[in-house]
Amino acid sequence: MASITLPEYQATALESIPKIASTARGQFRTHKTKNIEWRKVQLRKLYWALEDYKPQLVAALASDLRKSKFESLFTEVDWVKKDCMFMLDHLDNFTKDQKLGAPDVPLTFSMMNFRVRKEPLGTVLVIGPYNYPVQLLLCPVVGAIAAGCTVVIKPSELTPACAMVVKEMIEKCLDPGSFSVVNGSIPETNALMNEKWDKVFFTGSAQVGTIIAKKAAETLTPVVLELGGKNPAFITKNCPNLALAARRLLWGKTHNNGQVCMSQNYVLIDKSLVDTFIEFLKLAYKDMFPRGAKASDDISRIVNKRHFLRIKKMLDDSKGKIVMGGEVDEDELYIEPTVVLVNDVKDSMMEEESFGPVFAIYPVNTLDEALNVANLVHRTPLSLYTFGSKAENERVINEMTSGGATINDSFFHGSVNTVPFGGVGDSGWGAYRGKASFDAFTHFRTIAETPSWAEKLIRVRYMPYDFSALNF
Ligand code: NAD
Repeated sequence: MASITLPEYQATALESIPKIASTARGQFRTHKTKNIEWRKVQLRKLYWALEDYKPQLVAALASDLRKSKFESLFTEVDWVKKDCMFMLDHLDNFTKDQKLGAPDVPLTFSMMNFRVRKEPLGTVLVIGPYNYPVQLLLCPVVGAIAAGCTVVIKPSELTPACAMVVKEMIEKCLDPGSFSVVNGSIPETNALMNEKWDKVFFTGSAQVGTIIAKKAAETLTPVVLELGGKNPAFITKNCPNLALAARRLLWGKTHNNGQVCMSQNYVLIDKSLVDTFIEFLKLAYKDMFPRGAKASDDISRIVNKRHFLRIKKMLDDSKGKIVMGGEVDEDELYIEPTVVLVNDVKDSMMEEESFGPVFAIYPVNTLDEALNVANLVHRTPLSLYTFGSKAENERVINEMTSGGATINDSFFHGSVNTVPFGGVGDSGWGAYRGKASFDAFTHFRTIAETPSWAEKLIRVRYMPYDFSALNF
């Protein structure tokens, strides 16, 4: 790995951005993307490009986030490859015209020809975040290719090595001009947003999502927003296995060093279980990191100093008590998996999305209290987790809204690449993954054909109107 030289980061020249956008649009207008075989070729090319660029991508992920090889392959490179395979397996089926008959079409008209054609939306922009700079950037692109769109891709500037490797890989391996990568930060994203797109697919913070949605609204451009949230976990007296709950929730905050939009921000736990839960967390920590987390090769680092200081400030500002972890090292951008016992919804640990390896434990007396607190902190989180009896789990899911939910585990609903994933309310608009990725970039166009012989059936529509023809 040491022998790999990663390309130096270079932002795309601002003045070239309109041309990149118009080229992608020009490529769409050739109609070549409407050909299903053409799309399959692009998906196969992306699959093999990911295979060929695996060493560079793994090295870039290590350079940007100190991501382990295991996570780099499992949750980034191989994940996108699996997406390509999924689309290749299902594309013929997804793209087939859907014939409509009874009961969708009333019997009177069922002899006429109604169908829904799956049309590509056109030329789309995909903007990615830093935490999974390969997966979260390229999986929407897989959906866009499958649907027949041309794409301009904007990676996060916070993961510069990945951004450069992805740019080289996409522009060398896929159809030139139909798929381009623009690198840069706010000015480049603004320049891209000044262009007209047929859809913008944005993954990132709610704050930037708002800017993107506002700008897109000026040109009535539809958007998918995959945003963040303050995700609760509920542990009731009837939790089936508290040790397992501790282990699974700790995993949710150590994977990618907690830089995961779905991981829990806080745990609402029955007061009687708090001490035992903390003991189980410590045991799980020891088991996962026998030499301490800092010495482990498996745990990533915080992406940059700004985010390191942001998370540190959350810990410093908290009035709670650190019951596990707490070590920070600015030189290494290292924050230890840390748990803080709090008793105030206004505590810094409860108020902000941590997006790092730290979470709060908030003791409650009843499930009613837990639900009240969770609804107060965030009414529409991206995810929620519940560890209780069957009836309690159903109650939590029923009485709280969230983008997705997992019972008795941390983010399993977002760990399978073929099931729909998305937020709700202010944690996101729209979904993708599996068929939903194809649908996100597809226009479902109803086409009707009225044969001449049908005139007898429909002549009632002509003036002068004849009410006697209506049977009411
Ligand atoms: P971010 O919003 O800061 O950046 C995302 C993208 O927007 C980047 O490409 C960046 O260059 C661009 N950008 C940043 N500021 C901008 C501005 N002012 N104007 C225009 N463009 C701008 O997000 P991030 O820090 O990369 O990612 C972390 C956030 O993303 C967290 O809130 C996390 O929960 C969320 N997230 C959500 C999901 C999901 O699937 N729902 C997945 C990953 C991350």
